This record gives sequence, structure tokens and C-alpha cells, in this order.
Amino acid sequence: MAGTPRVVIIGAGIVGCSIADELVLRGWTDVTVVEQGPLFKTGGSTSHAPGIIFQTNASKTMQGFAMYAVRKAATLQLDGRWCWNPVGSLELALVPERVAELHRRRDFAESWGLAGRVIDPDETARLWPLVDTSKILAAYHVPSDGLTDGVRVSEAQGRRAMEGGARFLGDHTVTGIRTDDGHVRAVLTDRGEIPADIVVCAAGIWGPRIGEMVGMTVALQPLAHQLSWTTPLPEVLAFGIPADREAIHPNIRVQDRDMYFREYPDRLAVGGYGHVPLPVDAADLLHPRDAPVMPSVLEFTPDTFEETWSWAEELVPALRSPEARIERAINGIFSFTPDGFPLLGESSDVGGFWLAEAVWVTHALGVGRAMAEWIVDGGSTFDLHECDVNRFETHQLSPAFVHDRGIQNYIEVYDIVHPLQPMEQPRPLRTSPFFEREQELGAYFLEGGGWERPHWYGVNETLLGRYDVPGRNAWAARYWHPIVGAEARATRDGVALYDVTPLKRIAVEGPGAAAFLDRLTTNRVDRPVGTVVYSLLLDDRGGVRSDLTIARLAQDRFQVGANGPLDLDELQRRAAVDGHGEVSVRDVTSGTCCIGLWGPRARDVLASVTDADISNEAFPYFRAREIWVGNVPVTALRLSYVGELGWELYTSADLGLRLWDTLWAAGREHGVIAAGRGAFGSLRLEKGYRFAGVDMTTEHDPYEAGLGFAVRMDKGEFVGRAALEEKSAETVKRRLVPLLIDDPAAVVMGKEPVHLDGRLAGYVTSAGFGYTIGSAIAYAWLPAAAARSAQRVAIRYFGEDVPATVADEPMFDPEMRRLRS
Ligand SMILES: Cc1cc2nc3c(=O)[nH]c(=O)nc-3n(C[C@H](O)[C@H](O)[C@H](O)COP(=O)(O)OP(=O)(O)OC[C@H]3O[C@@H](n4cnc5c(N)ncnc54)[C@H](O)[C@@H]3O)c2cc1C
Repeated sequence: MAGTPRVVIIGAGIVGCSIADELVLRGWTDVTVVEQGPLFKTGGSTSHAPGIIFQTNASKTMQGFAMYAVRKAATLQLDGRWCWNPVGSLELALVPERVAELHRRRDFAESWGLAGRVIDPDETARLWPLVDTSKILAAYHVPSDGLTDGVRVSEAQGRRAMEGGARFLGDHTVTGIRTDDGHVRAVLTDRGEIPADIVVCAAGIWGPRIGEMVGMTVALQPLAHQLSWTTPLPEVLAFGIPADREAIHPNIRVQDRDMYFREYPDRLAVGGYGHVPLPVDAADLLHPRDAPVMPSVLEFTPDTFEETWSWAEELVPALRSPEARIERAINGIFSFTPDGFPLLGESSDVGGFWLAEAVWVTHALGVGRAMAEWIVDGGSTFDLHECDVNRFETHQLSPAFVHDRGIQNYIEVYDIVHPLQPMEQPRPLRTSPFFEREQELGAYFLEGGGWERPHWYGVNETLLGRYDVPGRNAWAARYWHPIVGAEARATRDGVALYDVTPLKRIAVEGPGAAAFLDRLTTNRVDRPVGTVVYSLLLDDRGGVRSDLTIARLAQDRFQVGANGPLDLDELQRRAAVDGHGEVSVRDVTSGTCCIGLWGPRARDVLASVTDADISNEAFPYFRAREIWVGNVPVTALRLSYVGELGWELYTSADLGLRLWDTLWAAGREHGVIAAGRGAFGSLRLEKGYRFAGVDMTTEHDPYEAGLGFAVRMDKGEFVGRAALEEKSAETVKRRLVPLLIDDPAAVVMGKEPVHLDGRLAGYVTSAGFGYTIGSAIAYAWLPAAAARSAQRVAIRYFGEDVPATVADEPMFDPEMRRLRS
């Protein structure tokens, strides 16, 4: 196709080749792949990866990438040699906690459409005869996992891309990127300049260096990882594995020992993460022509591998013989990020500069498709918010953070991670002005986005005498305390202060602000000053990117309550092209703070410290006013994410403590408590308030998510409108609905599969316990036909069926009496 943009991809590893292939498949043929090393064994990380693919992942998107990779690799071959060898996989459990974890992994894998089974040691030995069964308790078997060959699959895709018109330039080193007017124009190499409309950095561990060329921080830390190949083993030779098959037995992971195995016709490879971390500075990476072996390979350090090898001997008797040794080994380098997810997407600052970094072989083909869809169509069929390169808060881009968190993610790569488990270091990073008071009240803090966020307050233990709070199963009881239930009940009975400072706040200002927000989001925003509107941010395909609470504080001034840095990025990006120079978008989170004053007695408390008329008539639901609370100027929004009477009270950070103290003192006679995020989460579930990014993503349209009420199709153009034309609440094929769980102690955590008549029907998004309604709640996606009141289903939780029933929503105060009185 003539006239498609000129795309230059930096790096011909598996990621660069996959993107090139997917672009050409979509008719974008003006693609040049520039590679500093030889094609296709370039010397990058792909060149030495053993090609093991385990598809199971707690992230639906990451597992989706891997499942696509398996499907695609199975269609490829290179000169008659396979690109996909479906040998399956086994994850071994050595301790009881891991057995439970394997059930959990099996469950979320099933939620995202992957079949696997937890099996006993005997069946494990039938699948992998080399294992010492006395050492293992169980295994998780995924028959559709297997092996690829990174270089072969790169070349197969590269050749196809070249047949379609792409150019691959080996031995060309990128030395710079020319930009002009904030946009890429050309890639500079040691052998000349290549004009470009779009540049994709797929340079793996060299990514930070390429980023520097356009002034962009690429938040990845290269780390060396140890991989060894044994001497030939008679026990493996006895299998008679044909040389062209390369392996016939499953790939093995032993997370309890931070290690893995893969088979070759005559030996095993043994890899390990259990060693002391070996970070590498991207600035120290060599060029292929200067590297003794290849630039992504450092000299093996046997002393750091000793423990891994002894564990290998413990599990595999064949390795205990004196002849069995390590014949060859490497410290191979690859990328880790602060949160373990890849870095995908376009730079916010330099137009046309895209990144596809920190991607495993496992996910590369899926990432290739996602990137091509995004570049060509402006969006992907995968929900990419977890991987978006613009997801970080500023502090998360500091070199120290990227270094320390990269290392920590290497250490934890095989750990059992609880969904609520916070980062432990560096902390504390961000604290609200109320932090000191929260500490005095015995707050138990978890971390999110760098913020210290109280989950409950120790001082509220006394409430447990007043409220009977049911216990819960051990997994769900982590990072939880019965106080959470008491705080939730006390909020509904009286009044509580919630620290909601971490909520992202964006100021959208200027003469064009109202029209801009109206064109950008689904609801009618251009309403009188003092109105608050709940509105959705969609992508061009009509998928839900986020939900926003938009308060009009003045004719040309809005405060937008958002979900995180990606919303800020989207608003700034859109304002640059659609703001006509009349809109400014600023993150005001850090300079401000917010208290949620919620509960039936909230008005009594607020009225005692303000002269403003806060009666229901003067200050109704979903309205905003500037008021004084004692000495403190406050922007008050009559809203409540917990479904109670009350206000979000915003002020500048310097006056925050004063605001807290004023409300606290006034609240004493009304029995005010401080309540944490645990209670907050429970109360919002009872009201059916969705959490964007968890309950719904770009994979879902507003009608499916039960948010059709926030879409005004009659108001004119807005982003995503065209995609919603034919859709409505009546036409949806799936719906997000609440389930009430029969057993009050059976609290689930999210991501569990939901079965209908013994078959997979959907999956849980968020879950918790509704202390007012006295039942465990799980929100779940179900086919529309099953998403009806009183439908019986079973949630699969640690391998057990948990019976539940579809409920009507909202489950608490459906007449909205509490919010509107
Ligand atoms: C020992 C080891 C074992 C592994 N095993 C597995 C596994 O079993 N399964 C799995 O999923 N993952 C595995 N991985 C991870 C996996 O290898 C990498 O994540 C993946 O290969 C990265 O692919 P890439 O295309 O991003 O990077 P690379 O393959 O490194 O490609 C980047 C390319 O960019 C080129 N480049 C860089 N700078 C420039 C420049 N200035 N000009 C031109 N070209 C440039 C480089 O030469 C390189 O070829 C393993 C990693 C290691 C180290």
C-alpha cells in the first residue's frame, strides 16, 4: 500500500521482528528495521533465551499476549523447522502454600481462557520422569504451553515482513533521533539517516540509551540472569528425543526454588533467579562488535549459582551423579521494570516516538500485534493500561526507584504475591497532610501509587464491641482486620473521615475547557457552574478507558477526579490536538488534599464548622461549592463513593492538617471516626460503584459495564461515540453483575473463574464483604443470558466451588435516600 507512514523500528530481536510482521500484515509496508548486530542472531537477549513459554499470568492482558504468541508461533516455521513445540509445562509445589498457589494460578488462567490441572506427584512423574517425587507435593500442568525458538521465530516473521516490503538493515547502529517541532523526523545511524514518521524503540536492554536520544526516561533496569546447560545425561539420552524435536517433556518451573528446567535431546538447561541480584547499567552495555560472546551475555559467576545447582540435584536424581556437571553457562541480561509489566506506547513528549520494551519472548508476539493495532488503528484489542509507558507517577521514574524496584521484581519473580501486597521499599514516599494524625490513630498503611494509604485504624478496635464482624478464609484475611467491618458499619450508622488525597485531581481550565471536556467524555459536561457530572473517558473503539467526576467550579475552570497518570496523559494529549490553544490541563494532586466526610451525621458535623448553607435544598447531591470550614477555604463536592450523605472536601496541602483537626474536633460530639480504604472498598461494592481498570477496561463498552446512564448519545460528537452507535443496554452480549456468595466466610479476591452448570461462564473482577447487607460480594462478567437476577453460579476459589447468586443492584439503598437527603 502506497502512502502509509514511514516506520523505523530499532532492534531486530523478537519484539522488533514481531512488530514489523504485524505492521506489514496490516498493509503498512514502509517499515525499516535497524539492527546494530547481525541478522537475526543479533546478540540481544533473544539470541540466548531458551524459548520457554508459560502462558499463565495473573494479568489478563499478559496471558492474552502469551496465548496469542502460542497461536501465532504454531503457524510459523523456518526452512522446515518448527517455531512452536507444544511440550506443555509443569509448575512444581514443594510446600503446602505453593499447592494452594498453584490452584489459584490454575483458576485465574482459566478465567482468561487457558486450561490446566493441578495433579499429584505420580502423574507429574509420568509427565516428567526425571523428577524425584518424594520432594514434591503437587504440580500444575498446562498441556498447551511449550517451547519456541526466539531467533527462529524472529527470522520467520522478519522474512515474511521483508516479502511484504519491509527492509531489515543489520550492522546499522542507531546513533541519534532527529526531532523537530516535538515530533520524530529521522533516525540517525552510523551508515546514514533514515527519514521516519514513526520510530519504535524495540532495543531491549539498550532501551534507556535510545530513550535518552529523545530525552525520555525509559523505566527499565537490565539484570543478569543465570542459565546453565548440563553435560550430556544418560537419563535424557535414554528418551531418544529426535534432534529435530529438541524436547519432548514439559518445561519445568520450581518457584519454591526460584528455578526452571528445559530439556534438550541429550541434556537439561537449568536456570535460576535465586542468586544475588546482578544489575547492569545500560550505559555499560557493549556493542556487538566489541563483545567477547555477545553484548547481552556476561561471564558466568559460578559462586552465585551454587545454591541453584544444589537444588537442581535435590529435585533431579540424574544430576546427582559425579559425571553430571555444568558444561556451559551464562549470565544473560534482560529487562525488569518497576512493576513487572512491559513499557508500551507513544511518548507523551515526543510525537511519533513509540516504545516496546521489557518484553519477554513469551509475550513478544502478542505485543507485536498490540503495538501494530495501536499504531495503525489508534487502539488495541488488548487492554493495555497496565503496560502503558505513561502509567508512572513522576517519582517512579527516578533512577533510584527504577533500579531498586527492578531488582526487587527480579527477586520476587516467582514469589506468591497477594493482590493487596504493597511495595515494601522505598517507603514512605508520599504522605497526605493527615499522615501524622493517621499514625496517632494507629493506621495500618498499604501503599498505592507511592501514597501511604490507611486501610484501617487500630484505635477503632473498640468498635468491635459494637459490631459483630464475620471472619474470613486465610488468604482473604491477609492485609485485613475485622476493624474494617466495624469501620464500614460505623460509617453507615454515624460519620467518618476518609483520606482520599491519593485520588488523582486534574485542573482543566481555559475558555475552551467546557467544550473540550464535552467532546472528550460521554456525559453532558457543559452545565451551569456548581454542577458535578459523572462521565466516561472512552477510546475510539468505545471501550472504557476511565471514569471521571467533573466539577465545574467556574465558567472556565473544572476539577476532574480521575483514576491515575494515564487519565492525565490522555487529557493532555487530547488537549494538545483538540484544545485549540484554549485549554490547559494540570495535575494538582500533590499540592492539594481531600477528606471524604461521609455518613448520616456528616451534615451535623459540617454545619457546626461552616456558615455556608449546606441544607439539601441549598447544596444538593452532585453539586460543588466553595465554602469555608473554620479557617480553611474548601472546595466541597456533594458526592460519596460509599453511598452516604456527605462531601468530598478539598483544600491546599498546607491547610490539610488544619482541615482534619477542625472536622475531627467538630465531629467528636457526633461520634466521628477515621475510616480506611478497607471500609471504603466494602461500601462501594454494596452500592455497585465500579472501579475503572479493574471492573471494566477498554475491552468493555459502557452498556456492558452498566454505565449507559453516563452516555449522552444526543449531545453531539465525543470520543468513542461512533463505536457506540449500534449499541445499547439491550444489545449487550455480556454484563457486569454482582454475585452474592452463600457462605459469609467465603470472601474471594478477584480474577476467579465463574462457572455455570459446570462450565466456564465468566470471571470475577472485584470482590469483598458487604458488612451492611451481611454477605460476601463478587462483581463478575457473565454472558447476558446468565446475568439475570437469582441465577445460580459457582465461583472457583483455590480449586473449590463457592456457590453464589446473581443479585439486583445496587444492593444497598436502591432509592438513593441516603445520598439525596
Ligand atoms: C538467560 C535468559 C533466558 C531467558 N529465557 C526466557 C524464556 O525462556 N522465555 C521468555 O519468555 N523470555 C526469556 N528471557 C527474556 C527474553 O530473552 C527477553 O525478554 C527478550 O528476548 C527481549 O526481546 P527484545 O526483542 O526486546 O530484545 P533483544 O533481543 O535484546 O533485541 C533488541 C535489539 O536491539 C538492538 N539494538 C540495541 N541498540 C541498538 C542501536 N543503537 N542500534 C541498532 N540496534 C540496536 C540490539 O542489538 C538487539 O538485537 C530470557 C532472558 C535471558 C537473559
